[in-house]
Amino acid sequence: MDYTGSSGLKVTLIAYSRLNYEFKGNVSEVDRLVAQCGSISHSKNFKELDDAKVEHLINLLKSLGHESVFEHASFTFLIEGISRVCSHQLVRHRIASFTQQSQRYVPIEPEFIIPESIKNSEFYDEFLNILNLSRELYKKMISKRINKEDARFVLPQAVETKIMVTMNGRELRHFILMRAEKDAQWEIRNLAIEMLKEAYRVSPILFGDLYKKYIENKQ
Ligand SMILES: Cc1cc2nc3c(=O)[nH]c(=O)nc-3n(C[C@H](O)[C@H](O)[C@H](O)COP(=O)(O)OP(=O)(O)OC[C@H]3O[C@@H](n4cnc5c(N)ncnc54)[C@H](O)[C@@H]3O)c2cc1C
Repeated sequence: MDYTGSSGLKVTLIAYSRLNYEFKGNVSEVDRLVAQCGSISHSKNFKELDDAKVEHLINLLKSLGHESVFEHASFTFLIEGISRVCSHQLVRHRIASFTQQSQRYVPIEPEFIIPESIKNSEFYDEFLNILNLSRELYKKMISKRINKEDARFVLPQAVETKIMVTMNGRELRHFILMRAEKDAQWEIRNLAIEMLKEAYRVSPILFGDLYKKYIENKQ
């Protein structure tokens, strides 16, 4: 039987804010969008910023805590290979939009996430046994016409799930600052780090400070 460990996590940035006008310069579209939105507060008319101004303005906004400007950028992630433990923590973040794979409608062959600490312990066999029992009973009940919405009660929190998440730039920064910290639980911490890597790829100025802190381990 194939079980997914922490390495089964897959995070894909499937959409993010793009500009709908011709622009000059090399900074990313997301970074440019955020800076252009911020600049309107001090400009008579919309005017295009050069790359240096984009970087300066985003860093200034961060230092002033003028973070509402970051809300103009949007990031949509497909997240696969997390447990229901992790998705429950994720959906506590209220300034985000979520769509989760339904256990009522999708015919599921339950997969499970197993923490490394359990894999490397004397409890591993016992733990696997309980997962197997729950999976077998789940499938048996469905085959005997128990509704999936009721049969799922027997599945443990280790069961794997998939979820779509959309966050704006401000909430994504807040989420990473809470969940990439060392005191966060390992699974959501791994998730936050993967989301940071994806966000940094398309928005290196907005997420540069967090990338340095959590990925390069520099403050
Ligand atoms: C290490 C760790 C341990 C945790 N342990 C527990 C635990 O034991 N039990 C538990 O229940 N939860 C726990 N949590 C979850 C935590 O309490 C939050 O519910 C979760 O992290 C969402 O954070 P948030 O409310 O800041 O963020 P979001 O919901 O993402 O909101 C972002 C920000 O918007 C503002 N905001 C959002 N909604 C409101 C509102 N209604 N009113 C005013 N301002 C609002 C706040 O400034 C908030 O910080 C833990 C989280 C961490 C990181």
